[in-house]
Amino acid sequence: MEAEHVDDDLTEVVLTEEQIQRRTTELAQEIERDYAGKELLLVGVLRGAVMVMADMARSLKRHVEMDWMAISSYGTGTSSSGVVRILKDLDTDINGKHVLVVEDIIDTGLTLSYLLSNLASRGPASTEVFTLLRKPEAQRMAVKVKYVGFDIPNDFVVGYGLDYAERYRNLRCVGTLAPHVYS
Ligand code: 5GP
Repeated sequence: MEAEHVDDDLTEVVLTEEQIQRRTTELAQEIERDYAGKELLLVGVLRGAVMVMADMARSLKRHVEMDWMAISSYGTGTSSSGVVRILKDLDTDINGKHVLVVEDIIDTGLTLSYLLSNLASRGPASTEVFTLLRKPEAQRMAVKVKYVGFDIPNDFVVGYGLDYAERYRNLRCVGTLAPHVYS
């Protein structure tokens, strides 16, 4: 669905579908260059990364493996719960593999740093991170993010995989949620 299908629930469209597609394709080309001659496993973080994983993977002009993890994050609110746990683990043994974690958004970085230390213990050949969106606080954290789609302001956004109370994931753009929706 488009922004016009959610009435006045968005105060602003932060990224259009076209902007997202253009940037995703650019980053896919970087990834092709960086992983030339190497096998690559994309690890998508459910559920928010579904859209970006699907589009980024299809932009790649090469083979990749794809697997998924589900990690607890925000629940139905708009602020971090601080609770991180694995709800669904990988089906793939990543020992010796080049792993690229695909995230929708990095806010505090709490989820990502937990995930990376967990994956590191499994002996991958390398681990890097791709995120569509990154918020300011995340830039101060110690976790290295190799591929960043867009740095965005510290507002709660929805769409293109990102939800509020499980809604708006199927919005084609990314937009700022109007306070009347959650207050
Ligand atoms: P972090 O652990 O980096 O604080 O949070 C990462 C997770 O929080 C994301 O994967 C996402 O599920 C959720 N999150 C953080 N910021 C936003 C936001 O602006 N909108 C939505 N819908 N989810 C967010």
